[in-house]
Amino acid sequence: MQDSYRHKGLRLNLVKVLEKKGIRDRAVLKAIEYIPRHYFLDKAFEEWAYRDVAFPIDSGQTISQPYTVARQTELLEVKSGDKILEIGTGSGYQACVLHFMKAKVYTIERQENLFLKTYNFLRNIGFSGIRTLYGDGYKGLPRFAPFDKIIVTAGADSVPDALLAQLKIGGWMVIPVGNDENKTMLKIKRLSENQFSRESFGNYKFVPFLQGTASN
Ligand code: SAH
Repeated sequence: MQDSYRHKGLRLNLVKVLEKKGIRDRAVLKAIEYIPRHYFLDKAFEEWAYRDVAFPIDSGQTISQPYTVARQTELLEVKSGDKILEIGTGSGYQACVLHFMKAKVYTIERQENLFLKTYNFLRNIGFSGIRTLYGDGYKGLPRFAPFDKIIVTAGADSVPDALLAQLKIGGWMVIPVGNDENKTMLKIKRLSENQFSRESFGNYKFVPFLQGTASN
């Protein structure tokens, strides 16, 4: 894998596009400027890596659109040392953005093939500090809970109770939720043991958040 000046230039342009679309968090933009997104796509599709679009990866899944990654990350308000759970590892790109921002990242994927591919890939590119797990993110990761923040990168019909239960008090979750293809981006804060607040931040399209695991 090679990261050339041309790739770096394309990334700087992408950062400018994201700034124009309203991303303000400098640390998010820095992560996007630094991480070679073309590593996360098959080489034949490299040209697509720095356009602001989602793109197909293995097992019928997608790498989220850069703007969506940037916006969800901005809404997480990542602080150094934050313990963050990501649901939907996919290509691993979002997890790398969080890791670059010095979060302690746990990420879970339900597609076994994709999990194995990304698990190995993250080690190959030197992001072995990310804890990559295979399993059903609907259940969260009780073994490692509670988390400061949770980010869901697949579109949910409803908010799983298990995830709410794994948030620290004072922590929050960023999750796209809705009944049709268009999901509303929600930020759900845990105010106390039983109190949560919700704010919404526009509509997005996502691959579905599915229950259970799959091996193909
Ligand atoms: N964050 C990813 C985006 C991947 S798309 C990236 O940066 O590339 C969403 C991913 O969520 C898909 O890989 C899908 O298989 C996964 N997913 C859907 N439902 C899930 C569940 N219940 N548990 C874990 N992963 C899930």
